[in-house]
Amino acid sequence: MKGKVIIVSAPSGAGKTSIVRHVLEFLPELRFSTSATTRAKREGEVDGRDYHFLSVEDFKEGIRNDDFLEWEEVYANQFYGTLKSEIQRIWDEGKTVIFDVDVKGGLNIKKYFGDDAMAIFIEPPSIQELENRLRNRGTETEESLHKRLEKAEYEMTFAPQFDKTILNDDLDVARAEMLQTVRDFLNQE
Ligand code: 5GP
Repeated sequence: MKGKVIIVSAPSGAGKTSIVRHVLEFLPELRFSTSATTRAKREGEVDGRDYHFLSVEDFKEGIRNDDFLEWEEVYANQFYGTLKSEIQRIWDEGKTVIFDVDVKGGLNIKKYFGDDAMAIFIEPPSIQELENRLRNRGTETEESLHKRLEKAEYEMTFAPQFDKTILNDDLDVARAEMLQTVRDFLNQE
């Protein structure tokens, strides 16, 4: 069975995860595709819900077994990938898949699913604001913060390739726009 997919990509710290959680809460026909990653678990994260946390060896084994629809080494030695089995499981339930993936991964998934996919880019107001948010979140070291900011500037250049860009200046406005965008897509034939 095949269904629709929604892809949400953004530079780290743009507020993507919070926006994705919001639509998941309001649209019961959506299911989150839990990615696999080799990065360390953050406080409050649950294995199997937020990510499937794997060792680098197990992740590489998954690559060899062709378990991933796409994967990226998003940061040095930090692998992230979309498991084919997640998508099939969600479609078998008759639900629509929602992905929270990096910009390159998002565009790869869009290319793969074509018109069955809606690719949404969440745009932060500015790099300065992104830095403030990442600092406030307190999950990064100075080094990983700089890596994320550098990557963010690069990722912003891909925004025009997405089906839709949502500016996250005001979180409530961005959430509402996201909800409307996804509803419209789901209602399309
Ligand atoms: P974080 O470490 O902040 O959870 O995620 C870092 C980046 O990796 C984010 O941009 C997130 O969307 C991305 N990411 C998460 N899962 C996947 C995946 O399955 N594939 C790809 N390509 N990127 C992912």
